[in-house]
Amino acid sequence: MEKSKIGRRFEGKVAIVTASTQGIGFSIAQRLALEGASVVISSRKQKNVDEAVKKLKAQGIEALGLVCHVSNAQQRKYLIERTVQKYGKIDVIVSNAAVNPSVDAILDSHESTLDKLWEVNVKTSILLLQDASPHLTKGSSIVFISSIAAYQPPSSMSMYGVTKTALLGLTKALATEMAPHTRVNCVAPGTIPTRFARFITDNDIIRNTIEEKTPLKRLGTAEDMAAATAFLASDEASYITGETIVVAGGMSSRL
Ligand code: NAP
Repeated sequence: MEKSKIGRRFEGKVAIVTASTQGIGFSIAQRLALEGASVVISSRKQKNVDEAVKKLKAQGIEALGLVCHVSNAQQRKYLIERTVQKYGKIDVIVSNAAVNPSVDAILDSHESTLDKLWEVNVKTSILLLQDASPHLTKGSSIVFISSIAAYQPPSSMSMYGVTKTALLGLTKALATEMAPHTRVNCVAPGTIPTRFARFITDNDIIRNTIEEKTPLKRLGTAEDMAAATAFLASDEASYITGETIVVAGGMSSRL
């Protein structure tokens, strides 16, 4: 979206976006920052963090960049501590990290694969919120990034899809647990051509099939995901909690 058309809904707010040095997480961080938030971006590799901070700086955005592998307890704690030390509070957390380590069928999946999927895609979101909760402001907002695969897990990513289904339940459960202080919502993206989805979107046949099956006849963009996430995180969604917005060009999720 053109910079001039973007609002300032996050003026004075502090936002943490995990796994945010590229792809959907980066676009979300960029969007929140363009709307006035102080953003904290992070990922596993220092080089990627530095490059992302530089990219934002080139757009006039000052972001704090930290290394945080979401499975690393110390790095998670440091992400929260450093944010609070620098900005004094946390208003928004977007939990975006996920892995899809295997294309095996569920019954053929190694235990280590099942553990990794649960750990990165679900458990670390909970652990991060445990660390963050004392610092969350009244009116704060959490957004989980799930997937259209949560509703109908495709065969090549079925257990990944199941972990994304778990995020829909986690959204409901935490929305109740954290109300009325904090709202908890979720975005379920369709197919977005990022590094994560390269194995699907780089294949012309698969890509064309997805586009054809999508009522809006295109893949999504990271900016589409950022727009929905920013809405849910903002005060414009102040009466919405426990909900998931599917942002998938009309790909069917439920009635
Ligand atoms: P992406 O473009 O590959 O970006 C992934 C980001 O996560 C990178 O910044 C990466 O940086 C970081 N990262 C990876 N593993 C991490 C970890 N363990 N801890 C911290 N950071 C980590 O991926 P994406 O497509 O934007 O995916 C983001 C989210 O959208 C995921 O939850 C994914 O399930 C969801 N999603 C994506 C699609 C799609 O079609 N792309 C569809 C539905 C849902 P480093 O390498 O430096 O760690």
